[in-house]
Amino acid sequence: MFDIALRADGPRVRVWTGAQRLFPRGLATFLRHRDRWCRTPWCNAPIRHHDHALAAADGGTTSAEVGQGLCEACNYAKQASGWRHQPRPGPGNHTIDITTPTGHRHRSTAPPLLGPRHPAYQQVAPDRWMLIA
Ligand SMILES: [Zn+2]
Repeated sequence: MFDIALRADGPRVRVWTGAQRLFPRGLATFLRHRDRWCRTPWCNAPIRHHDHALAAADGGTTSAEVGQGLCEACNYAKQASGWRHQPRPGPGNHTIDITTPTGHRHRSTAPPLLGPRHPAYQQVAPDRWMLIA
């Protein structure tokens, strides 16, 4: 993967391996545009932290697949015992499976690329609606 920084003296391209902990500026910008709002279901606060859904200590890389945008409160709460965020690989919009300390499971899916700019509901089944950011 690579990061492109546009500068007055010309573009700079930097290659990274995913082993570093901080999200490079280009990747952080991508996460903010992809996720738009905090990825915790029903939060919808502005993104303030670029987070490893799967902690680096557990093998998470600094990548678009593992990264997610969270608000500060959700990022700090996620560090408490019992929370688990697991990126779900596969086609379609970026998805994170979330398990709470009480064992409840939720799925957070990034909004459609050209979807609504504000939180809205999307019908996922005849009798089910999902809040999308
Ligand atoms: Zn949040």
